[in-house]
Amino acid sequence: MSKDKGFVTEITSQSEDFSRWYIDVIKKAELMDYSPVRGCIVFRPDGFELWENIQRELDQRFKDTGHRNAYFPLFIPESFFQKEKEHVEGFNPELPWVTEAAGEKLEERLAIRPTSETMIGHMYAKWIQSYRDLPVLINQWANVVRWEKRTLPFLRTSEFLWQEGHTAHEDEADARKETLTMLDVYTDFAEKFLAIPVIKGEKTPSERFAGAVDTYSIEAMMKDGRAVQAGTSHYMGTKFAEAFDIKFLDRQNELQFAHTTSWGVSTRLIGALIMVHGDDRGLALPPKVAPTQVIMIPIGPAKMREAVVGRVDELFAELKAAGIRVRVDDRADVSPGWKFNEYEMRGVPLRLELGPRDMDNGVVVLVSRITGEKRIVKQDELTGEVSKMLEETQDAMYERAKQFRQDNFAAVDTLDEMKSFMEEKRGFVESGWCGSAACEKQVKEETGATSRNIPFEPATKKEVCLVCGDASKHTVVFARAY
Ligand code: AMP
Repeated sequence: MSKDKGFVTEITSQSEDFSRWYIDVIKKAELMDYSPVRGCIVFRPDGFELWENIQRELDQRFKDTGHRNAYFPLFIPESFFQKEKEHVEGFNPELPWVTEAAGEKLEERLAIRPTSETMIGHMYAKWIQSYRDLPVLINQWANVVRWEKRTLPFLRTSEFLWQEGHTAHEDEADARKETLTMLDVYTDFAEKFLAIPVIKGEKTPSERFAGAVDTYSIEAMMKDGRAVQAGTSHYMGTKFAEAFDIKFLDRQNELQFAHTTSWGVSTRLIGALIMVHGDDRGLALPPKVAPTQVIMIPIGPAKMREAVVGRVDELFAELKAAGIRVRVDDRADVSPGWKFNEYEMRGVPLRLELGPRDMDNGVVVLVSRITGEKRIVKQDELTGEVSKMLEETQDAMYERAKQFRQDNFAAVDTLDEMKSFMEEKRGFVESGWCGSAACEKQVKEETGATSRNIPFEPATKKEVCLVCGDASKHTVVFARAY
């Protein structure tokens, strides 16, 4: 079967319709399916395994930075939401309520958690009495619900899976340090593990988390030039401590409110992974997160089958023992060409082929999903060669994504310049901003782009606001966002 036949052609090309491409790929690769409940998706095993790999890696990084996991209830009493005014205003429109259970009307409505600051604040007030109880460094892996009007699988769903870290500290300096440490954990994870380059920075006030003093984010560029907010970290000051009475006796024996933080990433990362690396042939997964890193395909005539499959099984055992996530597809009723397309579409980073001639020569053929590069390597050096090629693939994917971002990035001085760039390339725009909400709003109305963040390391330093021309207070990255 030739490459342009078969099911690969069923994927809409990215240039034709990027949104269609995305849906085609995630359905065809069996990552998810739609559920009968609006905005809620089913994670199929290949999609869920991506989340499990993300989870395992992040969980280790949280533990390495001193955090422990706990679990809090799904339901939150309505009165909790009334305690922090901005929080309730921000989340109220998206809350689903339980009003009745076991045939009886509840005395107090229960919200299904959209995030757990309130519940956790209530509990921390009980647990924290003295500076000796601080810091509290807890993370929760959970599902949350935000009744979103516009949904897109993984990227924005009504129910999603995530982790939410919630910490309490003696003073502002310690809490701020935590907020930025976790932003760094997310940055390193996104770049090293998911091969997604991100822009780290502070959100403008209009994009802040409801109830936060400061919100920080990492922002990634998708292949259509749009942005995905890939993770957030919030410094809450003493707002939630005041609302929930999280007080402690400090080192001078005086009562103080604790300073709290929260930080989260969600299954949105799976969507970002697909949109950053995928191409017209389907998924492309960085080796570190890929459920299957190497697919082994025996090749050759029927009479040689048994010997070839036998050798493939031996090599499989070697790779597996070395900790490589490897699978064999030795189905006899499916052609090798069909399999090649299938695993390319599923984004498996490396394919290993072994045929009768390779057996005679003591070699195998390794083919990269990303570059198409073929390497003939000796069977007795297989583990090292595979590991090397996986590492190179991981690095190449990161570099490629970074190059793409650079090619679709512009520093501009005026709104007109921004508009012409957005028409031509879409992408990210960096510019000066005077700090007024009105100018930020005008950018959105005229270009559809929102402020993504105020980058810690801007590419340029702009002197004037792109809208009003007044002196610039911040350099801001703008983009259309998912
Ligand atoms: P937040 O609590 O709003 O700061 O969000 C924490 C993380 O969850 C961020 O990384 C968001 O990008 C992500 N997130 C927010 N809303 C959704 C949603 N509806 N679906 C998937 N992920 C989301």
